[in-house]
Amino acid sequence: MTQSHEEGGRQEGSQPSLPLRAQEVARWDRVHDVVIVGHGAAGGAAAIEAARAGADTLVIERMSRGGGAAALSTGLVYFGGGTAIQKACGFEDSVEDMKAFVEMAAGRGADPERIRLYCENSVEHFEWLRALGIEYRESYYAKKSTHPLTDDCLMYTGNEQTWTFAQRARPVPRGHKPAREGEAGGYLMEMILQATAEAGAYALNDCRVRCLVQNDEGRIVGIKALLEGKEIFVQARRGVLLAAGGFIANKDMLARHAPDLLNCNHDVGTIGDDGRGIRMGMGAGAEAINMSEGLILSAYYPPEDHLFGIFVDAHGQRFINEDAYIGRGGDAMIKKADGIAYLIVDDSIYDRSQSIFKLAAVEESFEALERALQMPEGALVHTLEAYNGFAERGEDPTFRKQAKWLRALDSPPYAALDCRVGHSVFAGLTLGGLSALATGEALSSDGTIVPGLYVAGRNAAGLCREGRTYASGLSIGDATYFGRLAGRAMAAADALR
Ligand SMILES: Cc1cc2nc3c(=O)[nH]c(=O)nc-3n(C[C@H](O)[C@H](O)[C@H](O)COP(=O)(O)OP(=O)(O)OC[C@H]3O[C@@H](n4cnc5c(N)ncnc54)[C@H](O)[C@@H]3O)c2cc1C
Repeated sequence: MTQSHEEGGRQEGSQPSLPLRAQEVARWDRVHDVVIVGHGAAGGAAAIEAARAGADTLVIERMSRGGGAAALSTGLVYFGGGTAIQKACGFEDSVEDMKAFVEMAAGRGADPERIRLYCENSVEHFEWLRALGIEYRESYYAKKSTHPLTDDCLMYTGNEQTWTFAQRARPVPRGHKPAREGEAGGYLMEMILQATAEAGAYALNDCRVRCLVQNDEGRIVGIKALLEGKEIFVQARRGVLLAAGGFIANKDMLARHAPDLLNCNHDVGTIGDDGRGIRMGMGAGAEAINMSEGLILSAYYPPEDHLFGIFVDAHGQRFINEDAYIGRGGDAMIKKADGIAYLIVDDSIYDRSQSIFKLAAVEESFEALERALQMPEGALVHTLEAYNGFAERGEDPTFRKQAKWLRALDSPPYAALDCRVGHSVFAGLTLGGLSALATGEALSSDGTIVPGLYVAGRNAAGLCREGRTYASGLSIGDATYFGRLAGRAMAAADALR
């Protein structure tokens, strides 16, 4: 792979961004113990911990204010093992049950140490966020949703209740939403930004980090940034943390590493998710792993009644249990149905007020619907008749949708909601990033630590390694928890002499 030092006037590309050599730095404009790139979920949590541990901490943010994608989010965080809210709402949970589920949710290739730490310390992490002043109601939200509009807290946010997850781990709700109506991520991040300042970390906004600075021993000793158009050089005596988000906004990187995500027409992120942090780390010798993985979301619920419908592909065949989390369903639409999917509903379950999908066809009979969708003769009719036959008995032997979502589709007219790529919204989030220890130290391809370099949040290949198994709340949960560990590790690291 060829490398570029700076892209000049070019937009962000896909190549590693080489570090500057320390002897090329004529002057340091600022000197701090810990320098954090990005003031979002991971960077904020890291800054609080580093500053509280006594490190002189600078957190640099390219926008006029910190917050990142987390500030746009629903603010759901995946906590379990017996949080105060779980107990108050009457749900029993244990570290073992949580671990059994998170092992599945994190997916193939996940780091067992991250899973262990995340689950064993989940109650402590929840209390840490609460101690920042973030309020949570002792209430359970029972509907199937991804972003409840109420200020309720506890909810199922992944595949906990669905086949085969429910067979392998006792289902317990673990998504925790702060006590704010609508999207609560802005509130969550305001509290984190406030705590960053209270801890004594210094925040520099409107400042875009462009490259790392490395000394002759290979240690990362600082960064170069653009502050209001002027170059500045900041020395980091103990470490630099890359916490600058993922790469969903960088189409060159998607084309190179994660082409499935090019099917997404909506970024789960901000323009800051341009992959620059990952490319800076690669240029300094850290390995980028898991780069093809990401979350592909199709918002087929709410309304939850749509789960009574069935997904079919271009051949009129089902391909997924429709009660799966929207990330699992979205992944299947792209990878199993080749991007051609319809949600078949009848008049009793179609919710015009909430559905975001266009109608591909509306007909009075299965046969007419099949013709309108240009499917092979008899295919959709057979699928619907077989599904209805079993649904009447409360069974779904093919995909094991839970009995509570089984009901024969027999109230005409029948509609096909258009879930095809290019005709509906697919939202994407990258899960690939730099290889690192759970405590943040960046790793090269031979497993050695890149001295002075730390990584957290979506800049890292973190807790979750597969989009099709992911549960809502695991990204901010991962970013804040492992951001904290990185902040502490940097504060305790040997200082440059
Ligand atoms: C609408 C929406 C809803 C979501 N809902 C949830 C949810 O409920 N639960 C959940 O777990 N996840 C959710 N997510 C995903 C989650 O918000 C992100 O995955 C998470 O914030 C990642 O944390 P991070 O610290 O890596 O990145 P961010 O929180 O995005 O922070 C990265 C920061 O780095 C800054 N930055 C980037 N490049 C530079 C640079 N070169 N120099 C300086 N600063 C830089 C960015 O501006 C940004 O502020 C949602 C996302 C969106 C968009």
